[in-house]
Amino acid sequence: MKREREREREREREGKIKTFFFPQHNGSLSFFLRGSAARRGEGRRRRVTPPTSTSTYTPVSNCNLLLPIASYSSLCFLTPPHQSAAVTQPFINQIEMEYESKEQSLRCDCLVFDLDDTLYPVTSGIGADVVRNIQAYMIEKLGVEESISLELCILLYKQYGTTMSGLRAVGYQFDYDDFHSYVHGRLAYEKIKPDPVLRNILLSLPIRKVVFTNGDRIHASRALKRLGIEDCFEGVVCFETLNPASPPSAAGQVEIFDIVKHLAHPEPGVELPKSPILCKPNIDAMLQALKVASINPKTSILFDDSARNIQAAKQIGMHTVLVGTSERIKGADHALESLHNMKEALPELWEEAVKDEDVRKSSKVGIETSVIA
Ligand SMILES: [Mg+2]
Repeated sequence: MKREREREREREREGKIKTFFFPQHNGSLSFFLRGSAARRGEGRRRRVTPPTSTSTYTPVSNCNLLLPIASYSSLCFLTPPHQSAAVTQPFINQIEMEYESKEQSLRCDCLVFDLDDTLYPVTSGIGADVVRNIQAYMIEKLGVEESISLELCILLYKQYGTTMSGLRAVGYQFDYDDFHSYVHGRLAYEKIKPDPVLRNILLSLPIRKVVFTNGDRIHASRALKRLGIEDCFEGVVCFETLNPASPPSAAGQVEIFDIVKHLAHPEPGVELPKSPILCKPNIDAMLQALKVASINPKTSILFDDSARNIQAAKQIGMHTVLVGTSERIKGADHALESLHNMKEALPELWEEAVKDEDVRKSSKVGIETSVIA
């Protein structure tokens, strides 16, 4: 045993294995796995081999990832696709063909961030305020009984990804903008504090960064501005990107599907109604969002606080980081209590970017030299 430890120390000195720690919120140090061992979910306190030299980034064709990072002048909300038809296999086929020859050398060319409870912490209290506002909207505008409003709000959220999506699925008619202005328009955004640490982390990483939120455009803009990071992202995929306009209200009285009763006593042959709203963790919504932003799922990382979103992202081939806890779940390649731990947890993102920058500089020197000669 002792000899084995000595052998490991010797290998560590030679750089054949690498270990590192990152601080937890409780002040203790936790061992962090990297590379394939982490992805396999093997136990703590292990030493693992650092990434190999084949771990290089390959820029996507429509943007230069190797430019020194610069901030963006204003928030860019991505526009809805021309065709709202579901995108599944055709998109996957396209990106597989495009990246087939580069498969061996690809790592990550885009970071995708959820907004609420990911880019700002759950401790802000904004999430709890949103739930209260949705409940109030259900009671005041949709006539839901107060006694069941919270249960229905949570149940629809669990079944459909957002309560709003669930409300539309079971038959409630309302205008999307009216809902958003009621639920988000009255939030106390000062609860979201500026985060210069996160800003520095984002700006130090020369990789594309995109926000993907189920929230609406105005909410995303206000939250990102409060955080002081609105210029750190190439674009924002938000509610309006995937759901361009409110559908016209159905004529006459629409019967509301009793989802509480249905889930308690499912009737044979009766299925849950589908929602017209596209949002995470719906696979079609996620693929459509990636398509709009020209993101290859296989070479991108999703940071999200929702276990369901993480698992859906894993299904479509994304690398995944669960945010808000250090406990990994099925489908999550990493788990971070806070995005402030990003650099310690994913140092290879910075290391590979520096390597690529060096390659770019050396190739530039080579071209200039040959011209001079
Ligand atoms: Mg979230």
